[in-house]
Amino acid sequence: MAWKTLDDMDLNGKRVLVRVDINVPMENGVVTDATRIERIVPTVKDILAMGGTPILLAHFGRPKGKPVPEMSLKPLVPALQSAFGTDVTFIERPSHDEIFGLPQDAVVLIENTRFSPMEEANDPQMAGFLSTLGDVFCNDAFSAAHRAHASTTGVAELMPNCAGRLMQAELSALESALSQPERPVVAIVGGAKVSTKLELLGNLLDKVDHLVIGGGMANTFLAAQGIDVGKSLCEHEMTGTAQEILEKAKTADCEIILPVDVVVAGEFAAGAANEVVPADACPADKMILDAGPKTVEKIAATFEGAKTLIWNGPLGAFEIPPFNAATDAAAQKAAALSKAGKLISVAGGGDTVAALNGSGAAESFTYISTAGGAFLEWMEGKTLPGVAALDQS
Ligand code: AMP
Repeated sequence: MAWKTLDDMDLNGKRVLVRVDINVPMENGVVTDATRIERIVPTVKDILAMGGTPILLAHFGRPKGKPVPEMSLKPLVPALQSAFGTDVTFIERPSHDEIFGLPQDAVVLIENTRFSPMEEANDPQMAGFLSTLGDVFCNDAFSAAHRAHASTTGVAELMPNCAGRLMQAELSALESALSQPERPVVAIVGGAKVSTKLELLGNLLDKVDHLVIGGGMANTFLAAQGIDVGKSLCEHEMTGTAQEILEKAKTADCEIILPVDVVVAGEFAAGAANEVVPADACPADKMILDAGPKTVEKIAATFEGAKTLIWNGPLGAFEIPPFNAATDAAAQKAAALSKAGKLISVAGGGDTVAALNGSGAAESFTYISTAGGAFLEWMEGKTLPGVAALDQS
């Protein structure tokens, strides 16, 4: 990996500012899903084991630059303590005296960085002050790396810095899937609309060998080929753009895989009567809600011939059974090949994690990113300021 990690740093006796993402769901002051907290445990434990003092910087919600009591990080302390197995000292307003007087084995949490308007403005004054609190900066919040804020980018530029364990895992997965992948590479782009994924499609055409287009988006591509898609979700105003994408794919030598058969129903409702028809035979009063079994076979065969898979977006309206069938079947195929060491599979962004978790196949993927927006921006080929600010090894 190109970036410095904790392994490249001497942290003994050092105060380490660690930017984390602990923006966890909470109800009545209690954490309801601690996944994000669990994912930063290796970084915190490794820093402690190396003799460093972790000082956590994080945002919570969108307080828009002023203190909002309901968005305080203080209620997270019990969940952090139980995840780390250590006491956590909460500091509302850090002062040099308090920070410099900390015992070496302390773990510190500083109040919501977004309580200051200087955070999102990436104000040098805030970055400068933060940098005086520690000796080293460690960024473990890939999911916040697409924003240039004082605690993600500004402070990194002022201090020796490195990627934390979660950032490291995320960056190596994305590098192996898109920057330096083993070929052939197949991408799945699914989901509702072409209009939200134009940059994604444009970037992938140049990088991957096969591009599977699924979900509601695929309907727009079918319509672009003159196919009547009945009552299906379809952006008719985007058919020209879809045609351009199909043309560009030819020049880029990227095979586009569209549904050859589809599951249609009269309404988008659980248990709605449904049938499989060829992709060009959707009845006028029906809507396409999933890819059909022949399409899944084609996708599975493409996976068999590929070395790397990158996946964003479901193949159908997965929230309502049975329209999760194609997404589940393709995910299970990818999982089996990954488990057998034949495929590197990386997935993430938006609803993708929920769609793949539903299939029960997610654990066997090589890497599932929970980063959302940052993962998508990486797939779009954009530079993430929080990553760009990190030192290369
Ligand atoms: P996105 O957030 O763009 O990844 O889109 C995910 C959404 O697309 C999910 O809510 C799916 O239910 C929806 N979706 C996928 N396929 C279809 C389809 N054929 N018709 C309607 N909605 C779909």
